[in-house]
Amino acid sequence: MQIPSAAGATPSMAQWFAMKADHPNALLFFRMGDFYELFFADAQAAAAALDIALTARGEHGGQPIPMCGVPVHARDAYLARLIRRGFRVALAEQMEDPKKRAGKAPLRREVVRVITPGTLTEDALLEAAQPNLLLALVELAEKPRGRDRSQGAIGAAWLDISTGQFETAQVSRADLASLLGRLAPAEILADAAIPLGPWEDRRGVDWPPAPPRAEDARARLAQAFHVASLDAFGNFTDLEAMAAAMALDYLRLTQAGRQPHLAHPAPQGERGVLAMDAATRVSLDITETRAGDRSQHTLLAAIRRTSTPGGSRLLGTWLHAPLADLGGILARQDGWDFLLSHAALTEELRLGLRAAPDLARALARVALGQAGPRDVAAVGQGLTVAASLASQLPEALPPILQSARQALGALPDLGAYLAGAFVDPVPVRLEDGRAIAPGFDAVLDEERSLRDEQRQILARVQLDYAERYGVPNLKIKHHAQLGYVIEVPAAVSEKLRGFPELVLRQGLASGARFTSTELSELDQKIAAAAERAGARERIVFDGLVKTVMQARDAISACAAALALLDVLQGAARLAEQVGWCRPQMTEGEDFAIEAGRHPVVEAALAGRDPFVPNDCSLSPGQRLMLLTGPNMAGKSTFLRQNALIVILAQAGLPVPAATATIGLVDRLFSRVGASDDLARGRSTFMVEMTETAAILHQGGPRSLVVVDEIGRGTATLDGLAIAWAVLEALHNTVRCRAIFATHFHELARLSGIMPQLQPATMRVKDWKGSVIFLHEVTKGAAGRSWGVHVAALAGVPAPVVKRAGALLASLEKAGPLTQSAELPLFAAAQQQHDAAPGAELGQEPEADRLRQALADIDPEQMTARQALDYLFRLKDLA
Ligand code: ADP
Repeated sequence: MQIPSAAGATPSMAQWFAMKADHPNALLFFRMGDFYELFFADAQAAAAALDIALTARGEHGGQPIPMCGVPVHARDAYLARLIRRGFRVALAEQMEDPKKRAGKAPLRREVVRVITPGTLTEDALLEAAQPNLLLALVELAEKPRGRDRSQGAIGAAWLDISTGQFETAQVSRADLASLLGRLAPAEILADAAIPLGPWEDRRGVDWPPAPPRAEDARARLAQAFHVASLDAFGNFTDLEAMAAAMALDYLRLTQAGRQPHLAHPAPQGERGVLAMDAATRVSLDITETRAGDRSQHTLLAAIRRTSTPGGSRLLGTWLHAPLADLGGILARQDGWDFLLSHAALTEELRLGLRAAPDLARALARVALGQAGPRDVAAVGQGLTVAASLASQLPEALPPILQSARQALGALPDLGAYLAGAFVDPVPVRLEDGRAIAPGFDAVLDEERSLRDEQRQILARVQLDYAERYGVPNLKIKHHAQLGYVIEVPAAVSEKLRGFPELVLRQGLASGARFTSTELSELDQKIAAAAERAGARERIVFDGLVKTVMQARDAISACAAALALLDVLQGAARLAEQVGWCRPQMTEGEDFAIEAGRHPVVEAALAGRDPFVPNDCSLSPGQRLMLLTGPNMAGKSTFLRQNALIVILAQAGLPVPAATATIGLVDRLFSRVGASDDLARGRSTFMVEMTETAAILHQGGPRSLVVVDEIGRGTATLDGLAIAWAVLEALHNTVRCRAIFATHFHELARLSGIMPQLQPATMRVKDWKGSVIFLHEVTKGAAGRSWGVHVAALAGVPAPVVKRAGALLASLEKAGPLTQSAELPLFAAAQQQHDAAPGAELGQEPEADRLRQALADIDPEQMTARQALDYLFRLKDLA
């Protein structure tokens, strides 16, 4: 941003210039009384973004200073809009009371916080059901020379300042996209050399400086979390420690030195997590639809049965990071299975959970010194709920619930103590002086009664004056500038002027205001008493904050346990419903789903059409399903539903199927639905091929791949050839479990030479010349495309549909056109397969001819001339 030179600035503008120099990339909210004022380019940018008036104030360098302002009480609403638009905001507050200022010097001001997308704490700026992550990335400074850049390691640390979650991982460059997709960070700190792809707009500005050295990083983290060595929390790689220290430094910077409450960093690794790349996450609408909707038509929205914001956030995290270790999955399953079989208890737990506030976020605000009375009261209420839940849980519990109960019941008394500290309803701000409950603090009660006594005296004085001056409707009122005044109607103002002890301060058409020495003294006494009560209340409140901070680790564990209990009860609720089951998880390569369903499509159809359940078996012997069928027949729904079932199963949740047996999946690839990336200048086909390349490079025997219409983005022949080659690679090289949906019906014939290939098709019925979709998957291949019928269904004008039908008929009759495009390919494959059974399809036959030619010659019998001729022939063959 362009900042003019500070030379010749007025004293308060000089203050502005100094702060702006420290925060050149943030809009400076400069507190002036009841407003935050913005100046120069900040004002222009904010006025445009917020659609508020741009005015001017004074002059600088002979030019008017552009200015706009935001009222203090409406701050959060304006901040929310600015942050959403990608701005950062530095809040400069007045650090002195203007009333107590001596002389003319400008008020002392300080930047108390920099608000950035990844460091939000206010409920108004946050989404209750979404984590808000700050991610720091560090790459090895010396790049391995000549090696593939995608092999380079990246250290990652992410934290949610609003809940205290703090985790780290080390990933390869190739896996960075997957991590970004999983975390969906609000703000990313990374060197410019680390490409962020579609997350580029989340890059924090001008940060970091060079990342810290590994030893320094470890030492700083150990110090921040009060341990002798970082190893106390697990094994961190150097890069992870550096990233974690970088994130922590950034927090200190934005919170003006205050250390927010954070759980200690936990190394996560991608090991224990089902890997999914960004394209997979997008195609499955896990917590956000492709259209950007978070509230409906997502997997999360379809399965959420949680009662608390913390539970919703945890469920979203589970869905984005399903587990890849059997033990973890079984522990979660045991948790909800127990609740499922104890229905009465679970119903009571649900009632309790509904009363729980957002404990994690309230605690975070307390830790940052941003708490109001409601936050501290919320901590109290959260703990009270937790203690009562703990007492409801029986002794004999599966391990996951056992540890939850322990955390819930760790602070039985603190909740009641905090809850008893405030009046009901709890006011938003402390400044009102009436937040602490009477009886909680004896000194405060005394200050308050003094204050209230003075007020009673004032009421008596009013009666007194009315009598003394003979004005029955005389009122004593408080006025912002004048303090306590006597207010009388204009008609009697003349009468009061006759009394020398009364001083006329304001004469208005509607009435007059007088003061007296007696009133001024009373005014001062009342103000002093109110101030003393206010100051005492602040002391009591600070004491409560301190108590909370002393127990913050236990409170944080309690918040985590509340969220866990909530997710498990929600899972039990899902499992109660007909057609949801506990999947059987194995270490093998099984995949057998009976009567599986797509939870989102099913919910969308509810009340209109029944959803048709489908089986799916990809177990050894038939690992690769080739699915054909017309558009609209339900192919993509079937592909997605099987991918979603894997996510749910490995998140440890119930799945929408009659039964399911699933061998742990290590990587899930989903390529369903058109993924246009034209904004980044890549054609649909290019995107499709890039995503296909990722599967072929990264997939393995434990992966699950669901792909739709590979090769659709190019000419028919090209497309068929590519689809074929990819199918072959999945079958022979990757050897994963896969469902491959395609328009190329011909590919089904490859089952003759690919033993694992299992042709399947969506059933359709021809009814009086129009098509009826049965949404049922059966063995075999589609006989025809039905494209013309689907066009008619979609409302393409009848003459066009008719013409297309006629063209199709003549094309089919002409035959050679389609056949010349497709048959030679199959003929070649079949020939080759017959000639060399067992040989890899697509192997170069030339290599064998060369070998044969070499075997045919006998050098002993050759002249030099013959040998030279033969050499040229061999060269031709090569
Ligand atoms: P395709 O990928 O074959 O073009 P979709 O999977 O997009 O077809 O399905 C088209 C529509 O058909 C869906 O929006 C849904 O309304 C309906 N549908 C799909 N599968 C089922 C099913 N199993 N049961 C009922 N309706 C379904």
